[in-house]
Amino acid sequence: MQSLSNRAKQVEKKPFTLAERAYLPAIFQGLSITMRHFFMKKATIRYPEETRPFSPVFRGLHVLKRDEAGRERCTACGLCAVACPAEAITMVAGERKKGEENLYREEKYAISYEINMLRCIFCGLCEEACPKAAVYLQADKMAPPRYERDEFIYGKDRLVEPVSPDARSKRGIQLTDEQAVKLRAQLA
Ligand code: SF4
Ligand code: SF4
Repeated sequence: MQSLSNRAKQVEKKPFTLAERAYLPAIFQGLSITMRHFFMKKATIRYPEETRPFSPVFRGLHVLKRDEAGRERCTACGLCAVACPAEAITMVAGERKKGEENLYREEKYAISYEINMLRCIFCGLCEEACPKAAVYLQADKMAPPRYERDEFIYGKDRLVEPVSPDARSKRGIQLTDEQAVKLRAQLA
């Protein structure tokens, strides 16, 4: 039948060669793509053993700071919890007893202080709200991966800064229970 535009092109089906029927060109093409990717720079890293460099504005894992005498700065005023948009912070306030002046800077302190790292969006508002310069987000540390959700609730044992700078560098991201006990003994 004559086409109206006269632009139609008749395509002839070319018969496959013997090599094409054995899929050889397709196999070699596939292998060449595999080999090319094999020697290319990898786009992935072996996290968590390896981490990428942090951005200069990165806000990571929180730390509860001590003053120059090694006392906890936090007075459990609750401003950080109020400022937190993710409601990730909870605490219980207590009154400092006689003889505990070397442990807590103010008369009121946090008996417990917890941050749920699964809720936290690392915005830094808690840091800005704190009137005692007690809570900071560290620029070079982040919460390590865990299998259990409970393990993302960080208590004072993992948030409070160790007294000795050596202990801080050894502990990496967090204090173990044993280190926390040792720390309490040092402070007593
Ligand atoms: S960094 Fe932001 S989300 Fe995380 S605990 Fe602080 S205020 Fe809440
Ligand atoms: S960390 Fe700062 S804002 Fe939060 S309860 Fe302690 S003193 Fe108050």
